[in-house]
Order: sequence, then C-alpha cells, then structure tokens
Amino acid sequence: MTLPFSDIAPLDKSVPGVQPIEALILPRLPVLYAKRAARLRMLAEHNGAYLEFLASLVEAQKFWLEQHPITPEQAMPVTALMGAGALAPVKPTQQLLATTPYWHAAFKHFVHTLAPLVSEHVASKLEAAVHDTPEQLAAKAAALFNQDYAAVDAGVAVLLWAALSVYWAQAVALVGVQKHTAQAHNEASCPCCGAPPVGGLVLTGDREGLRYLQCSLCETRWHAVRATCVVCHATQHIDYWTFEKTDAPIQIETCGDCHSYLKIFRQDRDPQQDALADDLVSQTLDEALEAQGFARAGINPFSFPS
Ligand SMILES: [Zn+2]
Ligand SMILES: [Zn+2]
Repeated sequence: MTLPFSDIAPLDKSVPGVQPIEALILPRLPVLYAKRAARLRMLAEHNGAYLEFLASLVEAQKFWLEQHPITPEQAMPVTALMGAGALAPVKPTQQLLATTPYWHAAFKHFVHTLAPLVSEHVASKLEAAVHDTPEQLAAKAAALFNQDYAAVDAGVAVLLWAALSVYWAQAVALVGVQKHTAQAHNEASCPCCGAPPVGGLVLTGDREGLRYLQCSLCETRWHAVRATCVVCHATQHIDYWTFEKTDAPIQIETCGDCHSYLKIFRQDRDPQQDALADDLVSQTLDEALEAQGFARAGINPFSFPS
C-alpha cells in the first residue's frame, strides 16, 4: 500500500522474497517538511499562534533545502563524525560547529524570514543573535547538543536547532545509510548523530506495526523492537497510557524499571501524524506521566525543556 502523503518511501517491490527489516529509514526531506508544515497549520486552527509560527519555520527549512542543497564538501565535517557508516556517532566539537558556515547561513535566513512574525521582544533577541560571531553561534549550538537548554534563549534555540537539523539531515542522507540493514537499535539516541529521539512511531503501509524512533536532529528513523524500554532495555514492566480510548493515536509507553517514558505516535491509527507537531498538542499526557514520577526519553526541538 502506498500512502498518498508520506515522507517514508514505499518498499521496493521489485526485490523478490521477504525483505529484511531496515535498521534505518531516511525521510524524503522535502515531503517531510511539506507534511509537517501542513500538519502544523491544521493543528494551529485550535491550538494557537505558536503552531502557525512553526509552520512558517518548517516552510523556511523546505525553502532553504530547495535553494541551497548541501554539497559533499559542506557535508564532510558531519559525515566524518559518522565514521564508516553510522551506528557510532560522535558529538560535534564546538570547533566543528564554528567552522561549518552552512548552518550559520540557514539560521540567519530563518531569522530574517520569521522575525516579522513574532513579538518585538522575541524579534529583538533573534536579531541580536544574527550578529553573533561563528564562535558565539557555535557556543550556543554546543550548549543544545549538551542538553544545557537554559544557556540559550528559547526562541533562538528553536531556530538554531532548525538550522542544525536541515544541515545534519542532508549530511546523513549523503552517506546513504538507508542501505544499512543492521539489527534494531533499542537505544534512546540516534545511531547516525547521537541526538535524542522526539518519540516513537508505529508505522503503517508496507511496514505496518513496526516501531521506529524519530531523531530530533537528523530526522532519521531507527528500528527499535516494540514493548522494550529504549533507556534500560527492560521488558518486564512496560505499560501504555492514553487519555481517551485505548486505540488513541498517541500513547505513552512507560518503563516501571527505570521510570522513563516514550511518547508513541501510532501512524497505523492516524497516518497524518507528525511527531514534532502532534507532540505539541498532547503535552497534558506528558504532564500526567511526569506527575507520576516518569521522565521523558527524548525531546521536542520545538519545545525544549526549560
Ligand atoms: Zn540523528
Ligand atoms: Zn527502562
């Protein structure tokens, strides 16, 4: 079955026999951005101006991708971090972040495009960051990589990560890791870039029922066996939580052993879901689980923890 609007390419049916489960799935980035922006606009009708703003940001990412596709030379610093072919990512140094002008330029473009859409107060912080030196931008990016979110203004952080993301996603795609057929990676960090996941996806279509985690930085999805904790790998005390009916499209998987939780987006129940967008409109679920002492495995780069 081919879905009408999915950034995940259907399986190649010309290959005979049962195909192995892919360890990694790379998105079709222009489709991913188009779908995410459309989803944000739809959800914004009932959820306010911030989602409209994010839709414009994702459209700016798509525009940047189309106008300034990365060259192999520009990608080299990131692809070098991946070594021979993913699964052993190394965090970028501040030096690397200072000497990769591709994402600096993307960030500045995002500020120019989006500053007119926000309050004067937020716009002034964004515009101040445009005048940062490469070293200052790198210091802020390094703080985000180190999950020191308090060190960066919240509005600047969202645009910085969007710029880093459009850079990393293209660089990872250039390495061609979609050919990788290693085993499942039941870990709470991306095998291509080391960033935390946004959450889990249960896929539909050709890959009905398989669970992948979605990277918050490079947009890669990595296969993780269901009903197994991605933080401590336990299987004994996994529970599922929803607010509404039991077949709700968003559920939370908790681990009673390490008290972590993962938000899961059931694309088999609603294929139009986008993890980043739908997470923002289901945060009462997070609050309920956090009140019970569970800690989220993963982040949403549209809403960094404060
Ligand atoms: Zn990644
Ligand atoms: Zn656990």
